[in-house]
Amino acid sequence: MPRSNLVNQVILILIDDLRASHLFDLINKGKIPYIAQIAENGISSQNCITSFPSITFPCYSNIILGSYSGYFPKEGSGIPMYHWVGRSHPIIEERKFPIIRHCGKGSHLLKLNKDLGPNCQTIFEQAGEGNFLSSLNLINRGSVLIPPVEYTSSSILKGVQEIYKNPKKIFLNKDVPKVTVAYIPKTDDLMHKKGFDHPEYIKEVIDCDRYIGSLIKTLKNTGYYDSTAIGIISDHGNYKSEKLYNIAPFFKEKGFTQYLPRKGAGDFDCAMGGLGFFNFPGDNWFNHPTIEQLKNFGPSGVGNKELNVFDTLWNIPGVKAMYYRDNDNTPDKGLIYLEHKEAETGKKLTDIIEFEGHGINQKTKYIPDEKDFYKYNKYEESARLIDGKAHSIDEWLEVTNQIDFPILVDQVPRYFKNPRSCDVLTSNLGEYGFGYEHGETAASVHQYSHDIGIKKSMTVPFIIGGSSNIPKLELSYCKTTDMVPTLIMLLGEKSHYSVVGKSVFDY
Ligand SMILES: [Zn+2]
Repeated sequence: MPRSNLVNQVILILIDDLRASHLFDLINKGKIPYIAQIAENGISSQNCITSFPSITFPCYSNIILGSYSGYFPKEGSGIPMYHWVGRSHPIIEERKFPIIRHCGKGSHLLKLNKDLGPNCQTIFEQAGEGNFLSSLNLINRGSVLIPPVEYTSSSILKGVQEIYKNPKKIFLNKDVPKVTVAYIPKTDDLMHKKGFDHPEYIKEVIDCDRYIGSLIKTLKNTGYYDSTAIGIISDHGNYKSEKLYNIAPFFKEKGFTQYLPRKGAGDFDCAMGGLGFFNFPGDNWFNHPTIEQLKNFGPSGVGNKELNVFDTLWNIPGVKAMYYRDNDNTPDKGLIYLEHKEAETGKKLTDIIEFEGHGINQKTKYIPDEKDFYKYNKYEESARLIDGKAHSIDEWLEVTNQIDFPILVDQVPRYFKNPRSCDVLTSNLGEYGFGYEHGETAASVHQYSHDIGIKKSMTVPFIIGGSSNIPKLELSYCKTTDMVPTLIMLLGEKSHYSVVGKSVFDY
């Protein structure tokens, strides 16, 4: 590929909660002609693997950075998940208590830009000189954010058109933005409340296509179309859980009491959907507990009886797996245990994930027990990497992109290295939806969700097109963190050292 730029502008459109197969079905049915045309004439993959956990944060922030969470004082992003308990760390040491961050809706979401930390860069920060625009994009560090008139797909995409017609509206010079990121949240809202198979959800995706068509028209009218790359991606796919369950009484009965940072009270914090993120104090809330502390834990509620946290959490309906870190882990090196049970006998088994190194240089080894929870041994491709050696993210991607738990051996350590990660992570593989957070079950819990590591929740579309300078390329697989380095390459700029993804022309 040439070193110089192939385009002068990029527009990245992130449609929240869109499974790859659903988008490409709509393309094949002729329902979304504009997106189809961009994909047809440019770069596309129907098998782009996102981050784990497959939740908006971190998946969305990871796309904007081209990197993942990690030990963020040294590497990657400080956003391990949308819900986290801050522990002892320089960034927050001015605070009296560890905090609980919840990235729901509203303006406090912009605090996320600070949470990213200093060791990663947004696409704007990596793109050199120019004007940078965010239309509702909340990970907007380095750009000007325009709020939408309303939170609809049309309003967010029209916002981009307006600035292309009249850049002076928000920029001092008349240059159109070099990088634009538009974030579309409505699809996610409809997916949870109605479902991926509901006409309203499908209509919203079709509407996105219509407004992308309108944006293409504006780009053509203003003469920018042939110098602009349009990227389309999603943060995660989705699934439907089989059953709903109110877990709040269970925690109460065990004596777990919700941690309230401001009061310094409580012994437990949990956010649980298909995955359960459990936080407990160690010597205090600034420290993660050791395995022994979790095995001999004294909850402050009812009865005050000491219990084994692991055994207790195994009694939650539907739990199939439990992750936790080794006591001796350092940011550079460590072990993550993946406990699961033999279906027939209930016997506990433990797979081990070993990690070493940072960012692009992280290597991980998978040491499964005889039952091998991820079933990597079952498939010829993935079985090749169970060889007692450590492997990179791209090696794992190559052999696991067709099966459940794609790249999880790489992703799990990146999550657990973050000081803000939980102590015990459970998964029920989608059997139950719990909707539990901040000590209670949400008023409205929905069966439609995303978070677990199965393939349909982890696979999104990857499309870049527009300018005729963009080569035609169909990829059998890639990963979401490849989007930013590919766009940065098209702009003729150089990606930040923290980027873990790679230009898709390097596959
Ligand atoms: Zn999302």
